[in-house]
Amino acid sequence: MLLQSLREEVLEANLELVRRGLVLYTFGNASGISRRDRLIAIKPSGVAYETMAPEHIVITDLDGRIVEGELRPSSDLPTHVELYKRFPNIGGVAHTHSEYATAWAQAGRPIPCFGTTHADYFHGPVPVTPRLTSDEIATDYERNTGLAICHLFDQLGTDEISAVLVAGHAPFCWGPSAAAAAHNAVILESVARMAYYTIAIAAGAVPISAELHDKHFLRKHGKDAYYGQVNSK
Ligand SMILES: [Zn+2]
Repeated sequence: MLLQSLREEVLEANLELVRRGLVLYTFGNASGISRRDRLIAIKPSGVAYETMAPEHIVITDLDGRIVEGELRPSSDLPTHVELYKRFPNIGGVAHTHSEYATAWAQAGRPIPCFGTTHADYFHGPVPVTPRLTSDEIATDYERNTGLAICHLFDQLGTDEISAVLVAGHAPFCWGPSAAAAAHNAVILESVARMAYYTIAIAAGAVPISAELHDKHFLRKHGKDAYYGQVNSK
């Protein structure tokens, strides 16, 4: 069987989304990529998590063609493919309909950075795509969802926000691995919930300063990061 360890990691990332309460029934999907092999490992479509095993994970190429697997891949595979093409350094993608992040996506509102929890992970507001057009929905819907995300990040000019809200839909997150993508999905949901509470308490709440945002993001990410233990990841 191809890519046994990646299959196990992708399975574990999918189960993590369930354990953290981000996924109902078979909603949601996580994938990982082997850049060396140019192959993607993704959750199968519509299989119950309780019975999912590494051999159920579907292996595809970067055109979304099945290379190994009996089952159909998640229908969101074309969105994952576009993200892997757009962000050459990422190793995993996670998609959920977690309630608070999805509420922001449905409202068509970016999540402002109201505090350092957000700033530790995302270097800017979590952006929201424009709504898809009728044509984009009618043909190649899942691929066009990915392209809408890619165009948004082309405009933003950043690779320091590993999450996006698709308008009227839900979040997609990514990271260096499938596990990191799932982790970011969990953090995004927490950040989205806190931002909602912040506005509920004080409708006029304002984002933290750029200085505080930069301090928290940059001490954990990039070349001058100093948060955590030396020699640990
Ligand atoms: Zn979805």
